[in-house]
Amino acid sequence: MATQGGPRSGTPHPNNLADGMQNMQIGRPSGPPSGMANSGGSIPPATFGQQPPPPFLASSGMSMSRPGPPPPGVLPRSSIPLGGPPQNTLPPNMAFSRPSGPPVTQTGSINPSSVSFPRPVSSSAAPPSGLPGSFPLSGNAAPPGTSPFASSPMATRPFANGPSTFGSNSLSGAPRFPPTGNTLQAPVRPPPTMTSTSVPPQTQSSYSFPGSQPITSSTGSMRPVTPFSAPQPGAFPPSGPSPFSASPQGPPISAYGAQPGTMSSHQGGPTSQFPGYAPPPRMFGMPQPPPNQSMTGLSAAGHMGTSMENPQKIDLSQIPRPLPSASVILHETRQGNKVISPPPASSEYIVQDTGNCSPRYMRCTINQIPCTVDLLNTSGMQLALMVQPLALPHPSEEPIQVVDFGESGPVRCSRCKGYINPFMKFIDQGKRFICNLCGFTDETPRDYHCNLGPDGRRRDADERAELCRGTVEFVATKEYMVRDPMAAVFFFLIDVSMNAIQTGATAAACSAISQVIADLPEGPRTMVGVATFDSTIHFYSLKRALQQPLMLIVPDIQDVYTPLETDVVVQLSECREHLEMLLESIPTMFQNNKTADSALGAAIKAAFLAMKPTGGKLLVFQSVLSSVGIGALSSRESEGRTNVTTGEKEAHKLLQPADKSLKSIAIELAEYQVCVDVFITSQSYVDIASVSVIPSTTGGQVYYYYPFSAVSDPAKLYNDLRWNVTRPQGFEAVMRVRCSQGIQVQEYMGSFCKRIPTDVDLPAIDCDKTLMVTMKHDDKLQDGSECAFQCALLYTTVYGQRRIRVSTLSLSCSSVLSNLFRGADLDTQFTCFLKQAAIEIPTTPLIQVREKVMNLCINILHSYRKHCSTTSSTAQLILPEALKLLPLYTLALVKSAGLRTEGRLEDRSFWINYVSSLSTSLAIPLVYPRMVAIHDLDTKEMDGSLIPPDVPLSSEHVQDDGIYLLENGVDCLIYIGNSVNPDISRQLFGISSPDEIPTQFVLQQYENSLSKKLNDIVNEIRRQRCCYLRMKLCKKGDPSGMLFFSYMVEDKSPSGLAYVEFLVHIHRQIQNKVT
Ligand SMILES: [Zn+2]
Repeated sequence: MATQGGPRSGTPHPNNLADGMQNMQIGRPSGPPSGMANSGGSIPPATFGQQPPPPFLASSGMSMSRPGPPPPGVLPRSSIPLGGPPQNTLPPNMAFSRPSGPPVTQTGSINPSSVSFPRPVSSSAAPPSGLPGSFPLSGNAAPPGTSPFASSPMATRPFANGPSTFGSNSLSGAPRFPPTGNTLQAPVRPPPTMTSTSVPPQTQSSYSFPGSQPITSSTGSMRPVTPFSAPQPGAFPPSGPSPFSASPQGPPISAYGAQPGTMSSHQGGPTSQFPGYAPPPRMFGMPQPPPNQSMTGLSAAGHMGTSMENPQKIDLSQIPRPLPSASVILHETRQGNKVISPPPASSEYIVQDTGNCSPRYMRCTINQIPCTVDLLNTSGMQLALMVQPLALPHPSEEPIQVVDFGESGPVRCSRCKGYINPFMKFIDQGKRFICNLCGFTDETPRDYHCNLGPDGRRRDADERAELCRGTVEFVATKEYMVRDPMAAVFFFLIDVSMNAIQTGATAAACSAISQVIADLPEGPRTMVGVATFDSTIHFYSLKRALQQPLMLIVPDIQDVYTPLETDVVVQLSECREHLEMLLESIPTMFQNNKTADSALGAAIKAAFLAMKPTGGKLLVFQSVLSSVGIGALSSRESEGRTNVTTGEKEAHKLLQPADKSLKSIAIELAEYQVCVDVFITSQSYVDIASVSVIPSTTGGQVYYYYPFSAVSDPAKLYNDLRWNVTRPQGFEAVMRVRCSQGIQVQEYMGSFCKRIPTDVDLPAIDCDKTLMVTMKHDDKLQDGSECAFQCALLYTTVYGQRRIRVSTLSLSCSSVLSNLFRGADLDTQFTCFLKQAAIEIPTTPLIQVREKVMNLCINILHSYRKHCSTTSSTAQLILPEALKLLPLYTLALVKSAGLRTEGRLEDRSFWINYVSSLSTSLAIPLVYPRMVAIHDLDTKEMDGSLIPPDVPLSSEHVQDDGIYLLENGVDCLIYIGNSVNPDISRQLFGISSPDEIPTQFVLQQYENSLSKKLNDIVNEIRRQRCCYLRMKLCKKGDPSGMLFFSYMVEDKSPSGLAYVEFLVHIHRQIQNKVT
């Protein structure tokens, strides 16, 4: 790719990162790199706080059952245990509920407590120092060595991808968005000891269409059993016990309070068996199921054969639907030699890393790896990983440990360059080790030598994170850098064209930026810049010496340049006042702007030139179609404005980028480590398909506010921007996945740039971004052996440390097909469907994409039916237990905004971009939203959960006198039935009938318990989804109502069959294939 004409000579440049990657492959440095501090105490403080301390385990009263790190000073090397002191207590008055302060410029109609998050409380509210809450607060990024923790006797410091915020605020109690340290997640009564959750043996369900099979047991195995026992009423009160506060329920137990021994057997070799994965004792589908199988009959009143055609007779209450679970699941990644299947991605769970990485960081479509490609093909399933290397941990999880190998850098295999991990086997009294990835035997570096114990493990294995944890972070040496770690640079590019000004979009953007900047620390590492654009580009010199910001106009939008190389990106500490003044005045400066044109492409290029020396984040606010200058888009507007209707065969081409120049700009941006996020605040077509190339190549994303509303959208814009800059993230990153011999990476999919086949370049990566990595066999694997996957992410933290986060997942191999079905991971498989569909949409007619998705599902079920079931009755639809919801989710996907024929092209383009880096936990909710009833909140028994139980997505369940909330992680629709009790709608929304529904809706909190409960629910959902959600009120008989009912996945609709019909359809397809 366009790597030529790289950086100017002189300063090392990110363009050389590809070389840096070569270093990663070349292996360990031959000589000691210079200058890299390597003692534990010298780790720079987490001032630029992406990583506030985790709410500590101790406070949740949970006792961890594995050895903690040894006391400081014991290790010859600094293996730095991360994590705070065992306890921390926040001031009792610290609200941990949803942030509530309004963005300052919100319109008066916004109730502060209902729609927005609070301004940060001042850092004076921080707890006394010494507690984790006192982590470097304000923005004073202390230089390395000045950390309050440098002198800490424990040499510990907070780490982990904790809550999302900069500096102190989150710690001192000001919740940020989303407050991941939220009390809501704290289990009220954790068990005295950690027992793990193994997913109950996964068995099949058979759904007999004419009901020959009675239900012999209900399939409770959708969710693993929680060790937290039964759901506890009041378990998650909004203001309940915080993980930060000492738990009254149990003795505070240090994370270091080890219970030795329990983990000692987990590394005993690569012969682990999946729990419960012995070949099934007998065939499935028998009338008397074996004890570990559950069989659910889909009873129908009809007769064999014919009633298959008569879905009405099927008992709807028996068809597979997701079972809600309010309980927190405790998940140990391995137990002894056994791999434990992860809990459902969308459930709430707490992971204990006992050798394999947490499923948050990496999870596989199948938890057992097929020995041969033939077996994989036979199964119909795909082999892929979802990798989310910086995923947010649960607040109760132990932080990731940082390991510093000093000047020599982390121990790696000299052949494949895989990183040392718990599955590398030491032999020959520890003098040599065998790589679990490539099988090569290496000499143990002399200063890393350790004798083996009687069990064959290194005696220090339990004390070294890299030998007993699935995820660790290595301190990167100079070998991993081509320049000093980059600063945190935020450049804001704002549309000031006539339309942007008139719709209030410019004012909303300036206000959001101004508030977010107020939250940025003023350390020397934080740099900012601002430019505006219409048909020309306007830079601003923010130098302190100037009386006020100086505007510098770039009129040439074909051959773009940047007017001042030095003064447009400056340290925040030097320009904060100027910046605030500027942001305040931009909307008025341009208030009479009559320029309708936009030079978006040129403006991005110009901003890029200003950021070229540093790299960083470019945050673009766009309101109209880019119409002039480089990267100008021909409007495609006639196509773009109209809905694409059935029969337009070439419609998908409008979802492809119209212009190649944006792609080449994107590649250049990526080479210089500039990540672009685009906030589209528009009321018209902007060609997202073309624009989104830039974020999707640079590790960024698209935010879409359509049609932009100056009333309801500024709060979301602000919260989105705030989360964008404050969430855990890294810069100038490179990622690679390695696999054991026999398997290799086929392809990476997500938002990144790829210059060499093996690695992906990520100018920025954050906790929300997920990559899909597909795998293929290149050899046969041995039954009973293990196959490992290792993801290495080399990145720079926001506070300037170069790190390598390494996650390793070792799974057992199987040559038994039914084992693969038992080990199938529904969420990951579905996410795979979803992402593949999104990739196909721009190149394939929709109808074919839908066919393809349905065939993926049918092939899997057919394989199971053919090979794993002996029942001869064709009247039964037999589903593998682990995948029994696959048909439902497949149907939901077919009917989703991305795949249904109706809908705007722009929405589809946004959907494609959103899906491309979507996490596994949000994939199913996107197409199969959560719906809850909210008209009866006052009377409902909530069973300990803040959020009421799900209502099936069927219009039969939507009562005319009800009010329902439906959310998919992006949008939140509230439907008000026609004959709803006026009292209730008044209490909730201040209106007495659906006729009074405002077009632009802002959720407010009124003085009544119903309204408070609704706000609590919405805030909890926002927290869970890490998204502010766009709210809309809907009523029957208008487009809003149609939008709401388009989510009723179980209904028959223009875009697809009813759920029951779909099951019948699938069953018929399978029958056809079998016979
Ligand atoms: Zn190797």
